[in-house]
Order: sequence, then structure tokens, then C-alpha cells
Amino acid sequence: MSPTEPDVVCLGILVADVVARPVDALPAVGTLALVDSIVLRGGGCALNTSSALVRLGLRAAVVGKVGADAFGDFVVALLGERGVDGAGVVRDAAAPTSASVALVDSAGERTFLHTPGANDVLRPAELGEAPFAGRALHVAGALVLESLDGEPTAALLPEARRRGLHTSLDTVFDGSGRWERVLAALPHCDLVTPGLAEAEAISGERDPVRAARRLHELGARTAAVTLGAEGCQIAAADFDGRVPALPVDAVDGTGAGDAFVAGFLYGRLAGWATEACARFANAAGALATTAVGAFEGVGDLERTRALAEAA
Ligand code: ADP
Repeated sequence: MSPTEPDVVCLGILVADVVARPVDALPAVGTLALVDSIVLRGGGCALNTSSALVRLGLRAAVVGKVGADAFGDFVVALLGERGVDGAGVVRDAAAPTSASVALVDSAGERTFLHTPGANDVLRPAELGEAPFAGRALHVAGALVLESLDGEPTAALLPEARRRGLHTSLDTVFDGSGRWERVLAALPHCDLVTPGLAEAEAISGERDPVRAARRLHELGARTAAVTLGAEGCQIAAADFDGRVPALPVDAVDGTGAGDAFVAGFLYGRLAGWATEACARFANAAGALATTAVGAFEGVGDLERTRALAEAA
């Protein structure tokens, strides 16, 4: 392995987020309202998780797609600023960069308008060898990768495993309800990290313990269902149980799940047992909530370890 090869390749969604605040009500049609701030932020699971991995001291690369537009330039530049290898980001002149408009009210509650754009047209034939460049392949945004979900992802993961990579997959809530598309991938995942709503929808179970166990039975070696301020529910061969969240002053949950994955993968690549990975992942997720934005609160190795060990 060359020293520039990544530890983890995050294959998945890249998003430009336009965030306006405060917006407590929409202005009447045809009028204008003033807000305190409108800012552009990086988003999407692949961008967030790769950024968090780098902050933890690992090398991370992204494979994804953006448009040949200003938002695409922004996302690519941001990856560079954060030290993420963006060589695997395809620019597509025929598709706009995926973007969201987030309206944040005075209480911090967010309402989104979203266009999937280029994320929908990242095709298997465009990936080449890039997904297999690291020690781990993480699918970041399953169920909103329209051209990769289902059979293509279910083929990519066993190939990664065949080459000796650790495989992981994180889901995004599927508004279209086509949850079955993830099932064929589960037997090829060393780790899956759905939020509770996604875990319940995929597994058909109505409770975190049963949902995690069902995902494990369906083939995921470790199922880690994230539960926000309740921590995570794990089902794996060496550990089955709840790992409680770590106490922090949470101000914004954006990106907590993406940082959680980064923490879990850090532990796995270091050879830790499942419960230790989950505790460290909880610490990574918790720190992400301590500042506004998906990346601003994410901790480095020292801070994350200190919080995990305080448990
Ligand atoms: P997502 O961002 O995908 O919705 P969660 O909200 O479940 O994911 O958060 C991911 C993880 O981050 C949780 O499992 C937990 O460890 C941590 N976390 C999230 N919110 C809090 C919080 N308020 N306090 C402490 N930890 C939190």
C-alpha cells in the first residue's frame, strides 16, 4: 500500500446546503422577507463522514458525483480544504450538484427543500477501481443513490470484501419507501448504521432491540442503530445491547450520524471489539452535536477518546 492510499473510501452523496436563519414562517407569495444570515455549507454523508475520518487522523477519499457548476466547485474545494482526497469525484456537465435549502427557525428546527441532482446519476460503470483503494469501503447514503442502490451496491460490497476491505453502509431515510433495495447488500456489510426510523422500516420491526437484531440476522455482521440522545443499539456476534449516549451540550444534530460512522470505522480499523467501537462512535456523534453545522463540532482523536473514556 502506498502512503497516499486512503484508509477509508466513502462512496456516496455530496450536497451543497444553503442555510437561511431564522425562518419562522414563509413570507407571503410574491413578497420578500429579511433573514439574519444565508450561508453555504458542505453536506451529504460522504462529505461529512470523510471529513470526520480525517479529523480523527485517518486518510479518507470520496467517490461521488457533482455537477459542472458553482456548487460542485464549492464541494470539491471543501474536500481539498479538509484534507479529503477528492480525485474520485466525477464532474457531470449534464446534472446539477445536489443541493438543499435549509430553513432554520428560531428554535433551531430545520425544514429542507432538496434536489438529488448528480447523486442520482452516479453510475456503476463510472466507479472503476476507486471504491477499492482503501482498507475500508463505506457506502455513504444508501437508498438515495438512485443508480447504485439495489443490485449494483449488492455487487460492489462482496467485491470489496473479496479484496480484503472492511465494508460498511449507512442509509438515508427513503421518502419513496423502497426499503427492500438495501436487503441484498446486508449480507456483504461488516457494519450498517441506520437511524432508528430507517432500521425499523428496513427490518419491519417496531423497536430498536428487535430492529438491530433483525438487521444482524439479515446478514450485517454488526448492526448499529443510532438513537440520537439515547445512544445506539448494537447487534453483533460479540456484543448485543444498548450503548448509552455521552453527555454533551447538544445544539445541532446535523451530521451526528455521519460522525458516528467515522468513529465506528476508526475503532474497527484499529482492531477494537464492537462495544469499544460503539462507545467511541457515540463520542464522535455526540461531539458533532456541540456546534451548529455538520462538521464544526466534530472532535479530533484526543477529544473523542477523552469523551469516550469518560463514560
Ligand atoms: P442521525 O444524525 O443519522 O440522525 P443520530 O441523531 O441518531 O443520527 O445521532 C448519531 C449518534 O450521535 C447517536 O447514536 C449518538 O451516539 C450521538 N448523538 C446524537 N445526538 C446526541 C445528543 N443529543 N447527545 C449525545 N449524543 C448524541
